[in-house]
Amino acid sequence: MSNLLLPIAHLVILGCAILIFLSFAYKKNKRQYLLKSRLEDLEGRLNIAYQQLLVEESRNKALRFKLMRYDTLAGLIDKLNQNLSLDDTLDTLIGESYAMLRRVEATGIVYLSDAATPLPAEQGLSLVRVKSSSDDALIKEKHGDIFDQWVLKHTRALLVEDTSSDFRFDFEKLKKASSRALGSVIACCLLSENRPIGIMHFDSPHAKAFNLEDLRLLATMSDIASVAIDNAQYYQRTRELAIRDGLSGLYTRKFIVERLEQELKRCGLGGGFLSIMMLDIDFFKKYNDSHGHLAGDAVLKNLSALLSDYFKKQNAAVGRFGGEEFLVILPSAAKEEAFLEAENVRSAIQEKVVTIRRKPTAITVSIGVASFPQDAESADDLLDKADSALYEAKRTGRNRVCLY
Ligand code: GH3
Ligand code: MG
Ligand code: MG
Repeated sequence: MSNLLLPIAHLVILGCAILIFLSFAYKKNKRQYLLKSRLEDLEGRLNIAYQQLLVEESRNKALRFKLMRYDTLAGLIDKLNQNLSLDDTLDTLIGESYAMLRRVEATGIVYLSDAATPLPAEQGLSLVRVKSSSDDALIKEKHGDIFDQWVLKHTRALLVEDTSSDFRFDFEKLKKASSRALGSVIACCLLSENRPIGIMHFDSPHAKAFNLEDLRLLATMSDIASVAIDNAQYYQRTRELAIRDGLSGLYTRKFIVERLEQELKRCGLGGGFLSIMMLDIDFFKKYNDSHGHLAGDAVLKNLSALLSDYFKKQNAAVGRFGGEEFLVILPSAAKEEAFLEAENVRSAIQEKVVTIRRKPTAITVSIGVASFPQDAESADDLLDKADSALYEAKRTGRNRVCLY
């Protein structure tokens, strides 16, 4: 009996051992399974968090980008508000938009309408500013290209992502006509009261250099700048009206005398010299009496045009000093040079024939010349001296030049 019990006991012990082992193995497996599923769960959550992070990061980037663009727009408004001159306004516009839309290679151009020509018309646009990544960018399209004409015609902003595949434009024609490689283009109208006053244009030799967001930004910048350009042009026109004499189009007496004071100040500081001419029509009262006051006005206009034209290249300023009296400032001209110029213009005036009621008429002028610093140092004194020289020219027979 005891012989039989021993193997049974062994079997029971073995059975128990196997049971214990199996129970341990089962528990371990269960733990491992639980841990694994927890790990998978954590990995899943991590993945979701990572995806969210990527979304947030790209949102953040877009917001930073937007913020930067809003800053630029605010800066643009600020800068445009600080000045009234057209030159400064255009410099600011091209500088800021170029900085904003800058691509590896890009060219920015501003065209303004020629006030005398109503838009839209090709010849109505004039190139006023260029900024390019290539130093020697030569813009042959001084009046705009087909894209600018399209923008003018439709009064709408234009984005051409790839000029070679945009059905609206004939690429082959464009390639032949354009002086530069144009891969992509954006352009907007500058508008004043819904009337085009110019074009803001960017192009790049590469396709897809600009996107819709760029176009939106350029359109906003153009809208802001349009107001400033309009104001600057209005200010310039008003200023021109204030300093120009209505009949002759020359500077008014007040302006030309102020200009003389400024030039003298400059000469005084820099040790330079200048001369002035006082010019008066001979026997003009007689001319009026014989041909009528309107004919006299026509002669004054004619003479003013001749003087403007004659002195254009010499950086001189010409003003109407009185009824039929003119003042010319010749910066950097010594007395001898001024005398020669006066002689030349006197003889050009004498030779100019004005036809009044089919009758050829001509006038002559007398001229007095005085120079800084040898004759006088102040504007008033210099004008006095030139007037004395003019009086001398009248006294000694007219149609002549006298030096003080
Ligand atoms: P002198 O050779 O001495 O300068 O003789 P003058 O007749 O030119 O000189 P005066 O000063 O006696 O007359 C100037 C004339 O210029 C008188 C005036 O009728 C004329 N005049 C002045 N302003 C105008 C103008 O705007 N239009 C016209 N048509 N005539 C003007
Ligand atoms: Mg006179
Ligand atoms: Mg006179």
